[in-house]
Amino acid sequence: MPGFELFGDLERKQVNDVLDNGVLMRYGFDGMRNGHWKAKELETQLQNTFQSKHVQLVSSGTAAVSVALASAGVGAGHEVIMPTFTFVASFEAIMMLGAIPVLVDIDDTLGLNPEAVEQAITPNTKAIMVVQMCGSMANMDALQAIAKKHNILLIEDACQAIGGTYKGKPLGSIGDLGCFSFDFVKTITCGEGGAVITNNKDYYLNADHYSDHGHDHVGNDRGAETHPFLGYNFRISELHAAVGLAQVKRLPEFLELQKKNFNILRDALSQIPEVTFRTVPEGGVESCAFLSFFLPDLETTRKVIQAFKTEGVDVCWNYYDNNWHYIREWNHLKDLKSLFPISKEVKQGLSYLKTKTFAKSDHYIGRNISCLIKLSWTEVEVKERASKMVKAIKENI
Ligand SMILES: *Cc1c(COP(=O)(O)O)cnc(C)c1O
Repeated sequence: MPGFELFGDLERKQVNDVLDNGVLMRYGFDGMRNGHWKAKELETQLQNTFQSKHVQLVSSGTAAVSVALASAGVGAGHEVIMPTFTFVASFEAIMMLGAIPVLVDIDDTLGLNPEAVEQAITPNTKAIMVVQMCGSMANMDALQAIAKKHNILLIEDACQAIGGTYKGKPLGSIGDLGCFSFDFVKTITCGEGGAVITNNKDYYLNADHYSDHGHDHVGNDRGAETHPFLGYNFRISELHAAVGLAQVKRLPEFLELQKKNFNILRDALSQIPEVTFRTVPEGGVESCAFLSFFLPDLETTRKVIQAFKTEGVDVCWNYYDNNWHYIREWNHLKDLKSLFPISKEVKQGLSYLKTKTFAKSDHYIGRNISCLIKLSWTEVEVKERASKMVKAIKENI
């Protein structure tokens, strides 16, 4: 991660195909397109990549999460269980539908703690949203069992885990619906873009219509369309899809590079006894987009992050004080700072955030460092980085 590091002629050629005929929209204008349907082509390609029957491209990963929830009927008053460690998009997408995010603890996988999930289930729970953070995964067997037992949906946000697998299945393809982002910093980028994947035809058709104003896309050149239900506009453009098409063809190359760089860093750090790595559930294979490890305590972790800075080791984060990814600093959510009125139900549903603490999540996130694995590093650079990291940790432990 990220795909933008390796940009080139393939992307340019794909974009030029679109510019040459001028049809920047993914639907209609059949006669002008010269056979170019970049969004459709990318959807077909992604069915293969993510081993999923249906793929609906949308305008962003955040849109993908919202469209996935809406397509499965999640809306006003429903509760959606989500982790304390994720990206702000998770609760944004839930709240956009008038649903209530119910935040629960993570465990040493850095994903949802199944016990905490089970405890949070109420008669209003409609879905569990698992977020596969930093290239790896939560304990999916346990979460699937809970979803099945309570007859609720399992939605998988795999925006940060393109290329990771669990028991042979691509991450994102395990839940009832999976969500991906192709924003500028993700493993494959379209500039902006996202995808919803599912094996459920009804959910897919709902996603297809809902993301384009409720149009059912029946007939050629939009001629015979009707609106079976209300929708919005979360469409991707042909230009964005064209970039994604070039990128997805290079995904195996990206994943190979990630893995190589990841392994050099992991091998170096594993020689320090105080360093432990995140737990990867049995049967799981990381995408290697990040290397995530734990140090003995928060104080040491903060010192090591500081030492990394001094040594010039960039793209490594401790998320404890981070206001994008962790509950502690989401004050706009806790204080419900909304531009427009929020329903009483959601206000009431979120009031727990004023007082609730998440000691288990603090225990893991406080001691965690996650380092982005870049594709453009040379082997010499990765090795140099590895020795700087080892030095910084050893000197501060
Ligand atoms: C990036 C990301 C999103 C949102 O994707 P955008 O395309 O930026 O809207 C959602 N969830 C996670 C875990 C992400 O990392």
